[in-house]
Amino acid sequence: MKYSLFNLIRNTFSGHSRWTPAWRDATPKTHYDVIIIGGGGHGLATAYYLAREHGIHNIAVLEKGYIGGGNAGRNTTIVRANYLLEGNQPFYEWSLKLWESLEQELNYNVMMSQRGVINLYHSDAQRDAYVRRGNAMLMHGSDAVLMKRDELRDMLPYLDYDNARFPILGGLMQPRGGTARHDAVVWGYARGADMRDVDIIQNCEVTGIRMENGAITGVDTTRGAIGANKIGLAVAGNSSRLAAMAGMRLPIESHVLQAFVTEGLKPLIDHVVTFGAGHFYISQSDKGGLVFGGDLDGYNSYAQRGNLPMVEHVLESGMAMMPSLGRLRVLRHWGGIMDMSMDGSPIIDKTPIDGLYLNTGWCYGGFKATPASGWCFAHTIARDHAHRYNAPYRLDRFMTGNLIDERGGGPRPNVH
Ligand SMILES: Cc1cc2nc3c(=O)[nH]c(=O)nc-3n(C[C@H](O)[C@H](O)[C@H](O)COP(=O)(O)OP(=O)(O)OC[C@H]3O[C@@H](n4cnc5c(N)ncnc54)[C@H](O)[C@@H]3O)c2cc1C
Repeated sequence: MKYSLFNLIRNTFSGHSRWTPAWRDATPKTHYDVIIIGGGGHGLATAYYLAREHGIHNIAVLEKGYIGGGNAGRNTTIVRANYLLEGNQPFYEWSLKLWESLEQELNYNVMMSQRGVINLYHSDAQRDAYVRRGNAMLMHGSDAVLMKRDELRDMLPYLDYDNARFPILGGLMQPRGGTARHDAVVWGYARGADMRDVDIIQNCEVTGIRMENGAITGVDTTRGAIGANKIGLAVAGNSSRLAAMAGMRLPIESHVLQAFVTEGLKPLIDHVVTFGAGHFYISQSDKGGLVFGGDLDGYNSYAQRGNLPMVEHVLESGMAMMPSLGRLRVLRHWGGIMDMSMDGSPIIDKTPIDGLYLNTGWCYGGFKATPASGWCFAHTIARDHAHRYNAPYRLDRFMTGNLIDERGGGPRPNVH
């Protein structure tokens, strides 16, 4: 059912009892043209664009729990396209463009809020690096504004400018960056895919991948075996586990990343702000809570929960940037399993196994990539070759040396 003012008014006459479910509770068929494993934003967006752009409708999305129960529903919702490198910026700018029309495209309110993302700088050297990045963004047709300390002080008066351990000298702003409501994105894509006959099957864990003569034939699941011509893996922190079922070892480590939310406040933070002298990013949700996060927990894990030492570490960075945070109570914190690649950039590619495709390596930043990731993965699965935006995100770049190391961190997943 289309969401519109007309339908809203019409449904008031039946006490809103006639709205249909946003998607069907599908029963698995015996065979699909394409199976997408993982009902997060990336998996659902892939199914949506496969149906919408490539006319493939015999598709199932298999999710072991409930859709959006993974990182898609656990992140800090930041959307931006402020990258330096040639391999990254065109992809993320394309993603931001898709975000800008996503609500109309899906007929669903994903609460896209282009409130501006500001990266603070604290030294002359850091300012020079930000100038370089801002110029790279502008040259790729994106938007970037370098801000001086006084401009920032007018805009973000709650930061510590005078007694800070790491004095704030200015910031690089992307005005078109911002936030979106994470689970609404999942629900919007699920509804759009379901409207195009995609079967969304929850509580269906994939336990094995079936192959014959080096080609995919289907999957084993907790709801029985299902045949498929093609399989796309979009399981984020579980990528290594799923790839191992097909006998592959990936250049991916799984780590815990935590997010935090405080008690609700009146409007205080109008933008997304990131600290430049430590790893800390903060925004305010529409409900009023301050939403923030920082570094990984620092050890490999498949647990969707974090530990207390990282709470202290993240809050230290927050307090160094914005001391008034110390007067707030943190209501909740939780963890997600991050698919950390060896150069900090994602992989969207075919694998050496015929019919098996891979979407992983999203590190800290896969939420903002959701539309472009789904778009490019669908293209790769449907046409058996990469779209120009995901052409650099090859699996074999770790063998050929064509790495996309945005932060210059080297082969250490925990620093990307
Ligand atoms: C705390 C935190 C903060 C973050 N903040 C941001 C941010 O501000 N901005 C940003 O851009 N990104 C952020 N990210 C990253 C972002 O959330 C992820 O990169 C993105 O959501 C990944 O989406 P996905 O669809 O690939 O994965 P997921 O949403 O994790 O989906 C994968 C799904 O696969 C399912 N699955 C796994 N194994 C199986 C199986 N065997 N069978 C069937 N299903 C299976 C899982 O249950 C899961 O639902 C953050 C992540 C975390 C954890």
